[in-house]
Amino acid sequence: MTTTQDRVSELTEQLLKWRRHLHMNPEVGFQEHKTAAFIEAELNSMPGLTVTRPTETSVLAVLRGGQPGRTLLLRADIDALPIHEENQFEFASQTPGVMHACGHDGHTAILLGVARLLSAHPEEVPGEIRMIFQHAEEVGPGGAEELVMQTELMNGVDVVTGLHLNSQLPAGVVAVKPGAFMAAPDMIELTIQGRGGHGAHPEETVDPIAVGAQVVANLQHVVSRQVAAQDALVISITSFHSGTTHNVIPDTAEMMGTVRTFDPALRQKAPQLIERVVKGICEAHGATYDLRYQFGYRPLINTDWVAEQLREIALETVGPEHYQDAKPTMGGEDFSAYLEKAPGAYFNVGAGSEEADSHWPHHHPRFTIDERSLETGVRMLHAAALRLTLPGA
Ligand SMILES: [Zn+2]
Ligand SMILES: [Zn+2]
Repeated sequence: MTTTQDRVSELTEQLLKWRRHLHMNPEVGFQEHKTAAFIEAELNSMPGLTVTRPTETSVLAVLRGGQPGRTLLLRADIDALPIHEENQFEFASQTPGVMHACGHDGHTAILLGVARLLSAHPEEVPGEIRMIFQHAEEVGPGGAEELVMQTELMNGVDVVTGLHLNSQLPAGVVAVKPGAFMAAPDMIELTIQGRGGHGAHPEETVDPIAVGAQVVANLQHVVSRQVAAQDALVISITSFHSGTTHNVIPDTAEMMGTVRTFDPALRQKAPQLIERVVKGICEAHGATYDLRYQFGYRPLINTDWVAEQLREIALETVGPEHYQDAKPTMGGEDFSAYLEKAPGAYFNVGAGSEEADSHWPHHHPRFTIDERSLETGVRMLHAAALRLTLPGA
């Protein structure tokens, strides 16, 4: 009798082929045409799957199991980033300026692997498994939101799960946590309107750079003096543009930044806290401002019982020596859109190692994964597919 272990091992070579093909041919969000066609063709070669395109560049495979059970959604994101790859390996990106620098090539290969394992033995599978290869995780408002709001994908789904490979965790480690896991990534854009003039005569101007510098510094007081230390909040001004030369005080300063929270009440309050600082400083110095605040993905809050089941699955699948309780991160994820509609949990699979030189951070031009993590991902999602679909799971 072949065990799941044997079946996954037989898949290893195929997982590498899939991942490397995708890595060589990256496409950014909403433009994943070749990627979706590739996924669709692979899924169509597996027996018993119903394969459709819920949106132009997403692919859904549905497997109806041979036993009674619940409906589970498994999700992989498929998009790449507008980054020019600096890796030299032979399967590096062939598209200049576009790169799989977040590991979504790995997520896609993993879910294809799970589809192959499940479709080979549908008689063992309870309930219904929907496998969604989601477009545009990296581009707001995000592919998940579109799928959830504009398609039938979530109708009748009882539970949802998915994973992110993580180069900052050792390869093969699985990390799960109940409750708040990833932050809401909201965005600010700010224009400070001063009055330009000669660099030698600041007294005749309203200097938007000097005012902007005060704003940048004082926004950190919102974090440290106006919000309790245990209520996580990050405000980062990540772009500040003003002026053109050394002897002209410019008219305006333009800033962009990100605001990260877990707590919905704090998230709602953050725009007022920020505007109060901007308004006060601008008024004090005679400048005016235009503040634009845009809410991004929701915070990702794992359902406790699903996280607990995934923890048990991890302990059985990779063993206690490769299990960690995950730490919450201020990163954002549009997986949170599915969790608005059904209980579920998201988890991490470690992909970092010295041997694979895969400790580079996500979104870095040298980012890569230790490919052994693909097998870990398949084992986890395959076990989750058989467990979370059990009646009464
Ligand atoms: Zn990313
Ligand atoms: Zn990602």
